[in-house]
Amino acid sequence: MRIVLLGPPGAGKGTQAQRIVEKFGILHLSTGEMLRAAVQKESGIGRKVKQFMAEGRLVPDDLVIAAVNERISQPDAEPGFVLDGFPRTISQAVTLDDLLNKEAVELDHVVELQADEEILLDRILTRAQEAKDRGHGVRADDNRETMKVRLEAYKEQTAPLIEYYRSKGVLRSVDGLQTIDAVTHDVFQAIDK
Ligand code: ADP
Repeated sequence: MRIVLLGPPGAGKGTQAQRIVEKFGILHLSTGEMLRAAVQKESGIGRKVKQFMAEGRLVPDDLVIAAVNERISQPDAEPGFVLDGFPRTISQAVTLDDLLNKEAVELDHVVELQADEEILLDRILTRAQEAKDRGHGVRADDNRETMKVRLEAYKEQTAPLIEYYRSKGVLRSVDGLQTIDAVTHDVFQAIDK
């Protein structure tokens, strides 16, 4: 099964991806996590993306595409994967289509988690506070100011993917404002069809 999770920052993509992985035993691919790991390691890619991420802007397509391409062509990705945070631009979506075409496979579902801006900002600020309370590191981009940029990037660069996938007949929309369990229920229902 090959799934894309789409939705604004804070919509719960990571949480739901985890649950899909537990139920279906497929790979979780979060480009945000991959890029944060690269920044942490101070690798070549990490150094290139650090500033973009800290400011809440999307990193250049070629860097993300190279990382995703490398990962989904590994043997453990064969049974399927859930992509979380990718694609985020039309150009990334077209590239993903090409990559999958080459392997003669297709996306089964694109699940859009819908949530409104006010709630998203609250969730991100809560996530930052909880990380702090637990003595964990707070993400460099989990703050009010950067969140504005991330939401703007979502609206301008990522939201057009909703139409892109709707026209391909693979889009499923779920209300992301419900409890985590209720969202999971709806997500499973959407992808079990
Ligand atoms: P969120 O969805 O909560 O904003 P992510 O962990 O998915 O968080 O992404 C964090 C940051 O990583 C983004 O703001 C962006 O800078 C970078 N990033 C992640 N995925 C992509 C992508 N597919 N294309 C460009 N930049 C990306």
